Amino acid sequence: MKIVVLAGGVGGARFVRGVREAVRRAAPDAALANADIDVIVNTGDDWWLAGLRIAPDHDSLLYTLSGQNDEVRGWGRVGETERVSAELQAHGVTPDWFTLGDLDLGTHIARSAWLRAGLSPSEVSRRLQQRWPLGVTLHPATDDEVDTHVVTTAGERLHFQEWWTRHRATLPVARFEQQGVAEARPAPGVLAALEAADVVIIAPSNPVVSIGTILSVPGMREAVLTAGAGTAPVVGVSPIIAGAAVRGMADACLSAIGVATDAGAVARLYGARPAGGLLDAWLVGVEDESLVAGLRADGFAAAAVPLWMRDLDTSAALAAAALATGLEQARA
Ligand code: GDP
Ligand code: CA
Repeated sequence: MKIVVLAGGVGGARFVRGVREAVRRAAPDAALANADIDVIVNTGDDWWLAGLRIAPDHDSLLYTLSGQNDEVRGWGRVGETERVSAELQAHGVTPDWFTLGDLDLGTHIARSAWLRAGLSPSEVSRRLQQRWPLGVTLHPATDDEVDTHVVTTAGERLHFQEWWTRHRATLPVARFEQQGVAEARPAPGVLAALEAADVVIIAPSNPVVSIGTILSVPGMREAVLTAGAGTAPVVGVSPIIAGAAVRGMADACLSAIGVATDAGAVARLYGARPAGGLLDAWLVGVEDESLVAGLRADGFAAAAVPLWMRDLDTSAALAAAALATGLEQARA
């Protein structure tokens, strides 16, 4: 059995850790036992800084799944120091609003060295995963650079990272643009994973700048819709609980594209497969149970389950619910 997950950073990493745990806990004779897990990772937040290629969502997954993440802070590596970043800022090479940890910089230097030696982002990812075996396989969504830029209502254009980190997502947005996305292609490992998938899960990640960016790569949406030679169901998990983005600022991105911060509105943004959309099923929180009937009427196999990923147990339970929903929806 092969499980494919589309994921962004923090919500994606917590969810994928739950999927890995749900598979580990499955009974030996269960369908999930020993399932392969492939993760299609958002690359829209990637950028160049001080000559280094930074891949925040990829590295959130890498560090969380290898147990090196800072659980207290919620991102970055545990036991991190920031001496090199202080030097870079003193030189004026990096801005004072973006600090990189020393251990984290080691990853970025390695990535950049391999890219300069001619490796693709997918090959770089594979090398990083050889050092830290994760029990899942990460695939950058595309090997092409499709950094997300923000065009503000004042006509200013800035990299997503500057809007997100420096301005805390407060500058009014006219639109998000993925630079060069029209020429981008899904990375080879992505298409192979989707072709072999038994179930596809859209993680509870930012619907606009994580999942939306993955899906905007030409060919990606079709590959998800026809996954598993047309048999794999697509199950989405809401990143919005009771009208709020539970961690992070996903609400700012939804408002920017005119979508309400509401689990039902996000489902309709992705769309139900019978109505030409992406999803067979959609999981909302128990707090949003009242949305289920309307979602079913619109063609989603909807259900309400606990959506808060507080620890490994709650993450694994959510993943198990998503996988069970998927198996129920398996298409002939
Ligand atoms: P980022 O790349 O670090 O911004 O992370 P993601 O793309 O994965 O999306 C972050 C979003 O994930 C948050 O804004 C939340 O909406 C969602 N999220 C984070 N933690 C949880 C959780 O415990 N449960 C659910 N359902 N969603 C979560
Ligand atoms: Ca991100």
